[in-house]
Amino acid sequence: MSKAILVVGGGFAGLTAAIEAAELGHDVYIVEKSPWLGGRVAQLNKYFPKLCPPSCGLEIQFQRIRKNPRVKFFTMADVVGLAGSKGSYTVRVRLRSRHTAPHAVDFNLLASSLVGEADNEFDFGLSKRGALYKSMPFAFPDRYVLDTPTLSKTDATQAERAKFLDLSEQPREIELDVASIVVATGWKPYDVTRLTNLGAGKVKNCVSNMQMERLASPAGPTGGRIVRPSDGRTPHSVAFVQCAGSRDQNHLNYCSYICCMASLKQCLYIAEQNPDAEITVYYIDLRAPGRYVNVLEKVQALPNVCFVKGKVADVVQAGDDKVTLTVEDAVRGEKLTLHYDLVVLATGMQPSLAGENPPLPLPLDEDGFIAGGEEAGIFAAGCARMPLDVTRTAQSGTAAALKAVQTVKGR
Ligand code: SF4
Repeated sequence: MSKAILVVGGGFAGLTAAIEAAELGHDVYIVEKSPWLGGRVAQLNKYFPKLCPPSCGLEIQFQRIRKNPRVKFFTMADVVGLAGSKGSYTVRVRLRSRHTAPHAVDFNLLASSLVGEADNEFDFGLSKRGALYKSMPFAFPDRYVLDTPTLSKTDATQAERAKFLDLSEQPREIELDVASIVVATGWKPYDVTRLTNLGAGKVKNCVSNMQMERLASPAGPTGGRIVRPSDGRTPHSVAFVQCAGSRDQNHLNYCSYICCMASLKQCLYIAEQNPDAEITVYYIDLRAPGRYVNVLEKVQALPNVCFVKGKVADVVQAGDDKVTLTVEDAVRGEKLTLHYDLVVLATGMQPSLAGENPPLPLPLDEDGFIAGGEEAGIFAAGCARMPLDVTRTAQSGTAAALKAVQTVKGR
């Protein structure tokens, strides 16, 4: 009978849960679907509460995992089956092919010599990646992935001859025996292309807040310079559109909790790089919970930032250069049509499981958040349960770990 704990998801909540359980003396398996651990936090430029770069919090977590032999992790892995009951589960995990040697090899030279390319998922399509890639600057595990469909014909010949690449590697399945399970499957940014009135996907200089994080990141597509995707110019006028998709019964019928703070943070990014930039934040409500009100006050005090209460109705391309935004100013009762160099949509947070087949038999609410499972020894953590910031995500991971440990101890 195993006393191990399975953690599904290797983002901040999952990492925290895994480390806490392992440091209490339990064997832990992390199953992560992407090639590296770190989750959404790794894609941010900075995160609250201290506005650190993601490497600072994540490197500590990675170090704790490296040092703890009780934690084993599988990347590019999916849970595909579950048998048993609380206290004694057998979990079937499918491992997709990475096609690279199972240890860190510096493929930099080979990677840059290949010509095939695809949109870089890590940069939300703002850059391209090659077939052999390692998108995260501080990737853990420090391993490349070979994406065989992206290989050109000549690339394929080169890759076949390369040492430490295995083009014929097949997916395989393993079984893990565990007593309890933490589900920390995280969140995905709401699909901006569904916001057809807000120009997403059609207006080049209209980006999502997660794309803005990548633009501002020193490891991002522009080396951290916040510029317009269309022409690489520094924007002098920027509009933020709050609640883009959230609090809307046609899209996300709830407040996403983090997007007001994300926009305030991004106002600071822009003001730091270009103090003369004119920034307008269009909002319905501004939510700065607890001590975050200090950040709101700091941004409100900036001379070139202005807040307008009103719902944005429309974002369209204006000629080659500007983006036109139509908004109802709720205080003055006026309909405004204004032009900006760049528009940022404060898009919301959707649970990763929304619209998916959950990997485990879990009850989901109408929005896709996990709403139960504890009686079966399965505990949800982080944004799989509700929209949370990073601090609360870590707390939620710890809470789930403690519940999972109690299940093991109670057997
Ligand atoms: Fe809207 Fe702010 Fe809530 Fe996000 S956090 S949904 S922008 S009110």
